Amino acid sequence: MALIVKKFGGTSVADLERIRNVADKIINTYQQGDDVVVILSAMAGVTDSLISLARQITEMPQKRELDALMATGEQTTAALLAITLQSMGYQAQSLLGFQAEVHTDHAFGNARIVDIGANRIKNLLKDRCIVVVAGFQGCDAEGNITTLGRGGSDTSAVAIAAAIGADACEIYTDVDGVYTADPNICKDARKISKISYDEMLEMSSLGAKVLQIRSVEFAKKYNVPVHVRSSFSEEEGTMVINEDTGMERLVVSGVTYKKDEARITVKKVPDQPGVAAKIFGPIADAGINVDMIIQNTRQGGQTDLTFTVPRTDLKQALEIEKKVAEQIGAEDVLGDDTIAKVSITGVGMRNHSGVAAKVFSTLAKENINILLISTSEIRISCVVSEKYAELAVRTLHSAFNLGNANQTT
Ligand code: ADP
Ligand code: ASP
Ligand code: MG
Repeated sequence: MALIVKKFGGTSVADLERIRNVADKIINTYQQGDDVVVILSAMAGVTDSLISLARQITEMPQKRELDALMATGEQTTAALLAITLQSMGYQAQSLLGFQAEVHTDHAFGNARIVDIGANRIKNLLKDRCIVVVAGFQGCDAEGNITTLGRGGSDTSAVAIAAAIGADACEIYTDVDGVYTADPNICKDARKISKISYDEMLEMSSLGAKVLQIRSVEFAKKYNVPVHVRSSFSEEEGTMVINEDTGMERLVVSGVTYKKDEARITVKKVPDQPGVAAKIFGPIADAGINVDMIIQNTRQGGQTDLTFTVPRTDLKQALEIEKKVAEQIGAEDVLGDDTIAKVSITGVGMRNHSGVAAKVFSTLAKENINILLISTSEIRISCVVSEKYAELAVRTLHSAFNLGNANQTT
C-alpha cells in the first residue's frame, strides 16, 4: 500500500465532467489499496476572472483581500470534487489551506510555505478517507489567507507530499509531460522521460510554467520524485528526479521563453565608482527584483546602463530611476515592455564549448537582434524583441536538434 499525492491543474477541473474524470482517476488508485491526497487548482480561467473583478473596482486592490478572493477558486473545486467522490460512494473530505495547516509567511500574493502540520491529513487517511486539499493557498501566523504565487498549486502538492512522506507526487496537467519546448508553440517538441531537479529548476525559472519553480525547489530539497503527466491519457509522463546515470546526456535539453520582464535603460550615466549602487539601491529598497544587467562603455566618461525588471514593476521602477537620473546627472531613462527572454538549458553545457556561439549565429540567421545576454553553467538566455520570441524558440529548438534523440551541438 502506497501513499500518493495527485495534483490536478485548472484545465483538468474546468467543469463538472472533468471533475468526474478526476474522481475516476483517484478511485482507480484508491481501489488498489493506496491512500490518496488530492491537491486541486481553481477551474481554468477562474483565478484571472477573480483578479479582474477586483481590478474593476480599483487598479491596486489590497493584497490581503486579493488573496482572500483568489483562494475562493480552489475552495470551489475542492468542495466540488469531495461532493463528487461522496456521491460515487467514497469517503472524502475537502480541506482549505489553513485546515491542512499550510503555514506561510506574510507575503500576500507570493507567500512562501514555512511549514505544514500534516496531522489532520494523516488522521483522515487513517480512516481511509480521500483527502482533497485546496491548492495555491495557506495561512500566515495571524490566520490571514495567503496565496503562493501564480501556478502555486504545484508547490502545495510537492510540499504536502514532502510533509506526509508520500511515495509519489503526480502532477496532472493538459500536456503529457515536460517537453524540450512548450508543445503548444513548438510542434516539434519532444517529451523528456526523465529530467534532473537542476535542469527543471532552470526551465521553470525561465518560463516552462508546467511546474512552478518553488515546487521544484521543494522537490529537490526533500527529494520528492515528481511525475508530470496528462489528465486526459494514461501515458507515462516525465519523472523529475535527482540527476542519475540513466539520464540522457544532452548538451541542451530544453528551450524556454518568458514575456514577463521589461527593460530599462539609463542613458549617459557618469562612469564613476558608486554610480551602480545609486541606480540599483532604490530599486532593491522598493522590493523590485533586477534580473539581467548590461553596461555599455561609451566615449567621454559616460556609459549606458540597461537592466530588466518584472513587467508588473516597470512603472514604479521608471519613476524611481527618473529621480535617480536627475541626482547622478544621467541624460534620460527609457522603458521597454515589448521584450522576451529566450533561454536554452542543459547540464551537458558544463563540458561543451561553442554552445553560446551557436545560439548567437542561429538567431542572427533569422535576423533576430539580441538585446541582452546572460549565462550560467547550464543556461544561456537572450533578450529579444517580444514579437520574435516564438520564432526564436522554434529556431533554437531545431538548431540543437531537440526534436531527435541523437542530438549534437
Ligand atoms: P495547469 O493548469 O495544469 O497547472 P499550466 O498551464 O500551469 O497547467 O502548465 C501547463 C502548460 O505549460 C502547458 O499547457 C504548456 O503550454 C506549458 N509549457 C511551457 N513550457 C513547457 C514545457 N517545456 N513542457 C511542457 N509544457 C510546457
Ligand atoms: N489557480 C492558481 C493560478 O491560476 C494556482 C494554480 O493553478 O496553480 O495561478
Ligand atoms: Mg500550473
